[in-house]
Amino acid sequence: MKSAPFKKKGRVCAVALFIIVFWGSPLCVSGTERKVDPLGGYKWWKRVGEAAAESALGSFGKMGLRPRKGDLVVMTNAGYAEVDGRSTQAVLDGLASVTGSSRGRHTLVEVHSAPWAPLWCAVYDRSSGWNVYLELDPSRAAAGKETPVPGLFRPAVMERIDSEHVLAHPSSWDLKIKNKVFGGNEFRILTIANAVAAGAPTAAVRAVEFHDHYCPGVASGILMAEYLKTHFPPGEGGYFVHAVKPWCKEDALLVLLNATPGKRAYAVDYPTKEDEAGRLPEAAEAATIVYRRQKDGGGWEGRVLAFSWAETPCPKTGSALMDKLCADLWYLKQMEHPERYVKVLKDFRLPDGVSPRDWAGPGVDPLKMLGLMQTGKSEK
Ligand SMILES: [Zn+2]
Repeated sequence: MKSAPFKKKGRVCAVALFIIVFWGSPLCVSGTERKVDPLGGYKWWKRVGEAAAESALGSFGKMGLRPRKGDLVVMTNAGYAEVDGRSTQAVLDGLASVTGSSRGRHTLVEVHSAPWAPLWCAVYDRSSGWNVYLELDPSRAAAGKETPVPGLFRPAVMERIDSEHVLAHPSSWDLKIKNKVFGGNEFRILTIANAVAAGAPTAAVRAVEFHDHYCPGVASGILMAEYLKTHFPPGEGGYFVHAVKPWCKEDALLVLLNATPGKRAYAVDYPTKEDEAGRLPEAAEAATIVYRRQKDGGGWEGRVLAFSWAETPCPKTGSALMDKLCADLWYLKQMEHPERYVKVLKDFRLPDGVSPRDWAGPGVDPLKMLGLMQTGKSEK
């Protein structure tokens, strides 16, 4: 009888040991010794963010630059990137506290990445056009948990990235991209920094953060979302979106309409060239079908949309970065005129009792259901 409490205590200890060994803990308590695991703690990661921001400000100082806090745009994948399986979310607070960057002013930009991507941050001074890039050295972060915070970063890289300068030096920037001066994040940093500096609206910033860069393709999705809000307002329960020609626009629509596959409100087809060739001429440019529920418990109505790419005034330089950056900034000025680019190919109603999901199942081609495929040809 007396051994029962001991056994129970032993089980508790075993469970505690298991939790510490397999999940890790920022605090390991052993008798009177209290050892702090710096990689696990909020304070430590916040300090990493502060150190990165201080290092960036130091780099500006060496160039004789004293940027105003309000002019700094901070971009980072902190929170998405993990180090040794640990969250880097607190880096955001460290960066914000030193630079004064904020979510509300679009000056703290959280760029989507995979958890295994290296942790990076970029601090852009929009008044001078200079940017400082910092990337965590994963070998140092993994090798020494006690490594002093500044030693965790690779040497800072400083480049002028304002669009005026970049567009005037295409060959130089093509080489910099080839050499991955910003660790392979050159395109995303250049396009996002310049979009924010040009006054990108909140919807654009949200879409670009999720897409992880700003390109004409995601601009088309932002315009499509803007078009829908005004010209095809959501019914009760929002939209059901069916991409029949997917591209970067999908990421904007997912974020801006909150229509997602997880909520059973987003479908995507990946048509082959032959599938597209089988579409009737009036549906050749079909990109997205958007559905909404009619009021008062009515059925579903749908609209087939296309996107008309504009002839921008941008010169064709042959450099993908230059051409896209120029087009990005041009489309940013078009955000209030989505109807100029979003075209309606067809309006229709689904038969009673039929939902958009019924037209998104395996083997069902909504364009064929709409009579928009040549006889005998179908995407699916
Ligand atoms: Zn894209």
